Amino acid sequence: MGDLLNLFRVLVGKRFPFQLVYSNEYWMVETGKHVFPLQKYRLVYENLLAMGAKKENFLRPRPAPDEDVLLVHTARYLKRVKTGTLSHAELRALEIRYSPELVRFALLSVGGTVLTARKALECGLAVHLGGGFHHAFPDHGEGFCLLNDVAVAVRKMIEEKFARKVMVVDCDLHQGNGTAAALAGRKDVFTLSIHQMDIYPTEKPLSTVDVGLWAGDGDAKYLAELGAHIPRIYNEFRPDIVFYLAGADPYEKDQLGGLSLTKAGLKERDKVVIENARRLKIPVAVVLAGGYAAEIKDTVDIHLNTVRIAQRVQRVFPEAPVPLAARRPV
Ligand SMILES: [Zn+2]
Repeated sequence: MGDLLNLFRVLVGKRFPFQLVYSNEYWMVETGKHVFPLQKYRLVYENLLAMGAKKENFLRPRPAPDEDVLLVHTARYLKRVKTGTLSHAELRALEIRYSPELVRFALLSVGGTVLTARKALECGLAVHLGGGFHHAFPDHGEGFCLLNDVAVAVRKMIEEKFARKVMVVDCDLHQGNGTAAALAGRKDVFTLSIHQMDIYPTEKPLSTVDVGLWAGDGDAKYLAELGAHIPRIYNEFRPDIVFYLAGADPYEKDQLGGLSLTKAGLKERDKVVIENARRLKIPVAVVLAGGYAAEIKDTVDIHLNTVRIAQRVQRVFPEAPVPLAARRPV
């Protein structure tokens, strides 16, 4: 009977059987001539509408309140961010033009990932068309990242007792240095980062598990490494929620990287991360993270593929976890 019900859901299931989180302010930040294409957010959103998503499938985040940001970031740093008093060295480390709009973008991104996590816990899966700013440390920002949305959302879910154990699966091209530093030493958080070794960041604080790859490594090597870790760690650690940073920058035509993953390989990566979790009824909160292909269309395609894989998996494993309200206290 359960199988039949599932089949029925698959056949008539809503086109987007999960929540998407997006703000049209994401692409309005003026960054000058910069490799980080903020327009990708708008393009992903518009393509999803063209693919049949309805306006009601999208939730609009609010800027994260200070108390949430302070779960990870120091009060001193947050004050300097908000009052525009970062030092020259700090501004340089950001590698992106500082502006009040960038601060709002960062606060919205944190609010968006927290909202995505809540929705994932309610529905099993949710996708933030933004987020993944994993180079932000508690006391400073770097590498285009002002505030670490995922680290804040991880802490928030634990603080609010929505989750006992949380896992971060960081598949962005770059190592998740800020996240590793922000969540270091916590037994209730498992951080996995799979990344290219010989690029930024030069210093790589230890994640729980780091998988280092080298320029030229392609689909086969990447998927073999991922397959060797993901199902085993999910099974052993049994997180209450997985945050998935589905960076588009391991792509073979990315301007910042040297990994050689194809679009097909990246789709398979998405499937390994999302499907193995949903098979175990673990909720997944997806964030987009990086992507700097020479053609923005490629970056957008890769992000859209992630949403498509999420759609497909959620149709096959639609079972929602325990409702949020019933989760407290865990
Ligand atoms: Zn990256």
